Amino acid sequence: MNDKFDFITNTLIIGGGPAGSTLARELNKHDIDNILIEKNFNYDKPCGGGIKSSVFKEFNLPKTLETKKITNVNLFSNLNSAVFNIKKAPLSIVLRKEFDHSLRLLAKKEGTNLIEGKYKSIECFKDYIIAKIKTNEKILIIKADYLVGADGVKSSVKKDILNVYPKSFLTNYVIVKNKSIDSCEFYFGSKYAPKRYAWIFPHGEDTSIGSIFEPNSNASKIFDDLLKEKDAKSYKKKGFYIPNWDKKSVFYKNRVFFLGDAAGQTLPFTYEGIYYSMRSARILANAISKNEPLFYEKKWKETFEKSFLSYHWAERFFLYSDFMSNKMLDFFKNKKLQEKALLYWDNKAKPISAKDIVIKFFKYFFKS
Ligand SMILES: Cc1cc2nc3c(=O)[nH]c(=O)nc-3n(C[C@H](O)[C@H](O)[C@H](O)COP(=O)(O)OP(=O)(O)OC[C@H]3O[C@@H](n4cnc5c(N)ncnc54)[C@H](O)[C@@H]3O)c2cc1C
Repeated sequence: MNDKFDFITNTLIIGGGPAGSTLARELNKHDIDNILIEKNFNYDKPCGGGIKSSVFKEFNLPKTLETKKITNVNLFSNLNSAVFNIKKAPLSIVLRKEFDHSLRLLAKKEGTNLIEGKYKSIECFKDYIIAKIKTNEKILIIKADYLVGADGVKSSVKKDILNVYPKSFLTNYVIVKNKSIDSCEFYFGSKYAPKRYAWIFPHGEDTSIGSIFEPNSNASKIFDDLLKEKDAKSYKKKGFYIPNWDKKSVFYKNRVFFLGDAAGQTLPFTYEGIYYSMRSARILANAISKNEPLFYEKKWKETFEKSFLSYHWAERFFLYSDFMSNKMLDFFKNKKLQEKALLYWDNKAKPISAKDIVIKFFKYFFKS
């Protein structure tokens, strides 16, 4: 250890959410020394907690973190409804406080130096960075080959390096106490959530009701109406941001990487960020292990860009008008199309282009 520094490491990770903890675990597999900084070990990230059930096997996570397994999803639009059978690719519900805590502890057990502290500042040099981290006791000075901003949608690291935050939408949600449900519900259309969606998910012994707000719309008033309809008006409304994926988002600059919400890596349309931040972490760990920073962006784009674009266009095509949202639910009533959609969602079918979405839809539309 050098007198000037409290720690010297290969990779300093800021943010102990799914992105940061998974990166730490993946780096441990490559035997790369890393430090994980989380500002609050008790943080309970505002989240529906819905993840593909396959994530437990894929990332070797304890199944005890799954509080519910969902095999049927109920879909509603202004004038239509459908039940989507997802038995072949179920959705698991986790509680984020426990989930994030467990991931951090796994990383620690597997070799990560886990520290409760808050990222304060960074200085970038040609071959290394120096960061200041504030803990309860002192300010730590850490030297690292790389720093990773995995500090969420309001990333201070991104703000310091690029002077921007990731693009995002506001969500509103309430937790309805002592009311447990066994399925997930999604609501589309101007009556529920213009151009995006509202959801009702089980949340342990409780239920969460939320909505993604389209900017400059009357989404807030519409959400209030939904709460009234669901007898949940008396519960305290909370707001938080969710990334709006940006094709031009920066992956790396001056020995600093951006990961997870800090890189805007939530899938358009469904707004799943847990799974994609974990998969992105695996790609980044590979890039760091090769000491090839540009491999991260290249491999990420090869793996995900087509499907992110496809979901982006599908969202525009189906959710930007009530007519199409209603039609989308007709689409989902067809068992064969349901199965195909599930294959796309589960990354088991090649993503389709915007043009093909439109062609396939009209073929189906004129046949039926
Ligand atoms: C209301 C809502 C519902 C959602 N529902 C779902 C869902 O059902 N399924 C799904 O897949 N996704 C959902 N998402 C998105 C999902 O929550 C995120 O995409 C996911 O949490 C991204 O993980 P992350 O690790 O990148 O960021 P985060 O989970 O935000 O983790 C960032 C971590 O960094 C820490 N941190 C921040 N600043 C500092 C600092 N200065 N120093 C040290 N640490 C810091 C934070 O405390 C936090 O622990 C939802 C989002 C919202 C807002």
